[in-house]
Amino acid sequence: MKLGNKQIVQFSNVSFAYDNLEQKQILQQIDFTVREKEFISIVGPSGSGKSTIFRLIAGLEQPTEGTISLYGEQVNDRLGKVGYMPQQDLLMPWRTVLENAALPLELQTGNSLSQQDVFTLLTEFGLAGYENAYPHELSGGMRQRVSFLRATLTGAKLLLLDEPFSALDAMTKLFMQEWLLTQWEKHETTIIFITHDISEALFLSDRIFTISDTPITALQEMTVPLVRPRKQTDLDVDAVIALKHQLIEQFRKQEMT
Ligand code: ADP
Repeated sequence: MKLGNKQIVQFSNVSFAYDNLEQKQILQQIDFTVREKEFISIVGPSGSGKSTIFRLIAGLEQPTEGTISLYGEQVNDRLGKVGYMPQQDLLMPWRTVLENAALPLELQTGNSLSQQDVFTLLTEFGLAGYENAYPHELSGGMRQRVSFLRATLTGAKLLLLDEPFSALDAMTKLFMQEWLLTQWEKHETTIIFITHDISEALFLSDRIFTISDTPITALQEMTVPLVRPRKQTDLDVDAVIALKHQLIEQFRKQEMT
């Protein structure tokens, strides 16, 4: 998929602290840009502020300093602009797969998709035959697919995925990664993806942002030297193995300090 030149997300000089007793600084004057149709992963230690970056992009928190632009503008209303999939799948247990997936259609007036369109998409998302099943009847991978479908149905071209595959077994995870890349190409979305798994970040991403300090004062960027479409075996290429070891060493040093 050809990358666009449009800036989808731009952080300029953004600082942030939660408004609580601690007032601990999470972000300190950070800048970064994500372009149209990019796949970006963010890798960093737990508690460093990765989910907070998502909450800021989704408009759930406001920066204490600096500006965040989406699609080149400073927008307040993010409905339909950002599809945010938090760590827990947040499916409603009393709603069926179809009803959970179709939730954005109920929330957004003017959304032109019908339940029939959702039905068709359920097949594409590997959920055919499960339209009337409840979340507890699904495997972890299936729940993630319903959740991802729901984020897609918001119509947002920017998706924020917070460790979506961390609870899956190793094989399911590999299949889900391949599936995600297919969906990303097909729907031409821009994805920002949080993960702890360095191989996963290398397989999926155009660029990887790493965090090496708290509060976060900068995101280090590296470009993954692989063309698309990709296969899992591409991770065995020397340049990628070298990058993987470089990342592991970087995180090992952080864990030790
Ligand atoms: P990560 O996603 O990298 O694990 P988070 O962004 O979730 O990190 O959290 C960064 C820091 O902010 C942590 O110290 C966490 O305890 C704190 N934090 C997260 N959410 C809130 C909140 N809603 N209110 C106050 N503090 C929070």
